[in-house]
Amino acid sequence: MRAQPKASHFIDGEYVEDAAGTVIESIYPATGEVIARLYAATPAIVEKAIAAAKRAQPEWAAMSPTARGRILKRAAEIMRERNRELSELETLDTGKPIQETIVADPTSGADSFEFFGGIAPAALNGDYIPLGGDFAYTKRVPLGVCVGIGAWNYPQQIACWKGAPALVAGNSMVFKPSENTPLGALKIAEILIEAGLPKGLYNVVQGDRSTGPLLVNHPDVAKVSLTGSVPTGRKVYEAAAAGLRHVTMELGGKSPLIVFDDAELESAIGGAMLGNFYSTGQVCSNGTRVFVQKKIKQSFLARLKERTDAIVIGDPMDEATQLGPMVSTAQRDKVFSYIEKGKSEGARLVTGGGIPNNVSAEGTYIQPTVFADVTDEMTIAREEIFGPVMCVLDFDDEAEVVARANATEFGLSAGVFTADLTRAHRVVDRLEAGTLWINTYNLCPVEIPFGGSKQSGFGRENSAEALKHYTELKTVYVGMGPVEAPY
Ligand code: NAD
Repeated sequence: MRAQPKASHFIDGEYVEDAAGTVIESIYPATGEVIARLYAATPAIVEKAIAAAKRAQPEWAAMSPTARGRILKRAAEIMRERNRELSELETLDTGKPIQETIVADPTSGADSFEFFGGIAPAALNGDYIPLGGDFAYTKRVPLGVCVGIGAWNYPQQIACWKGAPALVAGNSMVFKPSENTPLGALKIAEILIEAGLPKGLYNVVQGDRSTGPLLVNHPDVAKVSLTGSVPTGRKVYEAAAAGLRHVTMELGGKSPLIVFDDAELESAIGGAMLGNFYSTGQVCSNGTRVFVQKKIKQSFLARLKERTDAIVIGDPMDEATQLGPMVSTAQRDKVFSYIEKGKSEGARLVTGGGIPNNVSAEGTYIQPTVFADVTDEMTIAREEIFGPVMCVLDFDDEAEVVARANATEFGLSAGVFTADLTRAHRVVDRLEAGTLWINTYNLCPVEIPFGGSKQSGFGRENSAEALKHYTELKTVYVGMGPVEAPY
């Protein structure tokens, strides 16, 4: 299987190569096969990308939001027309099953282009402020050159979620995908050009943690939007602060999902499974601490085990497959080490914990895993695992579970399953998280703001809110009479 792009980088409207960079091997996680060889960006490539972005931005910013939006909407159409091809590429890049990528990846990227393309004409307006005779007005202006840095779990979605609001607001972007998933963003860049985006506005450079700082520290960069782990977030934030650059931080989590004993059981189990096993558990907002009220613990676990054991694991390109491999050997090994910690610290393994027996030995597969009797101080209840490992904890009452749910440095998401409407709203009000769900989990349509609190980051992606993070206000005071000076 080959997925070799024309070249490693996409700069100023075309593919660009520089073989002086370190080699990045793109590995298909289901088989361990090398499907493409690319090069990390050299300083010269970074310079070229930022120079193109800087050159192209002013003219783009001078266009009307309607005209910019039209191009993004055309890109959305092209993405939908090529959904199958893009989804297959996403599956090769990540190992996620085609059953998922075909509904959740390019389509989500296309939603983003369509949504921001559509709202731009109204959402970028300023205010008129009457001041008696004088008045003032505000203008929402773009920041300039924005850098996007992506994680490997949703490569195409992240490339679009950052690109769409940045571009429609009149900025340009240099996007660096994760070194684990270098392929998808190049296609997004190609499609934007095909849709009519002027050259230089959306550039893709490859690289790893040593390339990122070249972008973040560049004096011509106005903003950095990172999707990644908390430790990376700290480094990028610190580097951006040195240049007083704007930042959006979409970081990790260890989110609570609370199931009260009056919840509709099948839905709560379905929500917990989606919030732990979708994308092989590699979702930042996953509800990995599942708090189940004691009265329903046994029935919850019995049915959860039954449904988990029925998950179809296998070839990600087979439409029947529900769970694919982990993105890389390193990530798979990390998850296994957490499973070992769970066992040694006394959690009870309900199901999973090993390698499935029906898959390629070279693939980075791992069984969907459920631990019960997990306690708050166990490592698996405190640290982000980022794999298909669900921790089930018990609780007695509402006040207790809210306090325990909040006892974490993270604050990305949280969920509540209950039939009691007032309790649902009371509990979400007390949970410390940026994105919360009642009687569902992990749904992130483009219309709603998404992002974290506490150590999980700040700034918001999606919805009109995202535009605020890619623009700044210019205030203009207009004097209508003579200036009265005391001297
Ligand atoms: P990571 O932090 O290792 O890497 C993220 C990106 O940052 C990569 O592109 C990497 O090359 C780059 N990078 C690393 N060090 C850098 C540095 N010093 N300067 C600049 N760039 C640098 O994360 P990952 O392993 O790719 O992804 C998994 C993490 O991402 C998890 O913690 C997950 O929760 C988080 N995540 C968050 C969201 C969200 O929206 N909140 C979404 C997806 C993933």
